[in-house]
Amino acid sequence: MNAALIEEHLRALKLPGALIHYRRLVEKARDPVAYLAEVLSAEIEGRHERSIKRRIAEARLPTLKTLEAFDFTLQPNVPKLKILELGDGAFIHDRRTLVFYGPPGTGKTHCLIAIGLAACTNGYRTLFTTAAGLLTNLLDAKHEGTLARKLRWIDRFSLLLIDELGYVPFEREATDLLFQAISQRYERSSVAITTNLAFEQWTQIFPDAMAARAVIDRLIHHGSIFEFSGESHRLRSRQGSSGKGRKP
Ligand code: ADP
Ligand code: MG
Repeated sequence: MNAALIEEHLRALKLPGALIHYRRLVEKARDPVAYLAEVLSAEIEGRHERSIKRRIAEARLPTLKTLEAFDFTLQPNVPKLKILELGDGAFIHDRRTLVFYGPPGTGKTHCLIAIGLAACTNGYRTLFTTAAGLLTNLLDAKHEGTLARKLRWIDRFSLLLIDELGYVPFEREATDLLFQAISQRYERSSVAITTNLAFEQWTQIFPDAMAARAVIDRLIHHGSIFEFSGESHRLRSRQGSSGKGRKP
C-alpha cells in the first residue's frame, strides 16, 4: 500500500530517477536522512543524463565523433592541446568563434562534431547545420515571412556549428541572410565553422568583397583559426583497405 502510494507520488512529482532507485537504495540505508539524500542524488543524476541526451538529440549532429578518437599525429599543424581544451566549452562561455580550415577529408567535420558533442555534455545548447542547409532554412523562412522567428530560434543555441562553408556559392539574398545570422551572434554567442576556402578565396562564395570582408571580420575578431592539412583521411582509409595504394 505504502509502496503504491510512494510510486504514485514520485510519478506525480515527475521524479523518475527516484522512482527507479528508491527500493534498491533502502537496502543499504543507514538512517532516513542518508536514505533521502541517496534517493535525491539518484534523481539528480538521472536528470543530468537525460538533459545531456536531450541536448545531443536537439543538436542534430550527423554522426557522433569524439576528440578522443581523433588522431592528432595526422594533423601536426593542429595544436592538440588547444583543440582538447575546446572540449570544456569555455570558448562558448567567452562567446568565441572557431574556424576549421583545410582541404577535404582532413578531419574538420570530425572535430566540429566532437566539439559539439562535448558542448552538449557540458550543458551548452548546440545546433549543427551545413552552410547550405542553414541558408535553405533561412531563405524558406524569409519567403514564408517567418525569418525573425527562425533567427530567434537559432539564437537560443549557445553554439552554432556551420559545416562546409565554401562548397556552394551563394546568391546575394542568401549571403545577406548568412551575414545576418553570423552578425546576430557576434559577441553574444559562439559559432564554429568549417571551410575549404582560405579567407582570400571567400570572394568566390560571396557576391562582393565587402560582404566577404564583413563576415570574415566578425569571425576572426574574438576567434581562433585552425588549419588542417595533408591528404584526405577518406582516401587513406580506402587505400588502406584495398591495399593497392591507388593515387587520386
Ligand atoms: P573534412 O570535414 O575535413 O572533409 P572529415 O572530418 O569528414 O573531413 O573526415 C573524413 C573521415 O575521416 C571521417 O570519418 C573522420 O572521422 C575521419 N578522420 C579524418 N581525420 C582523422 C583523424 N586525424 N583521426 C581520426 N579520424 C579522422
Ligand atoms: Mg567536412
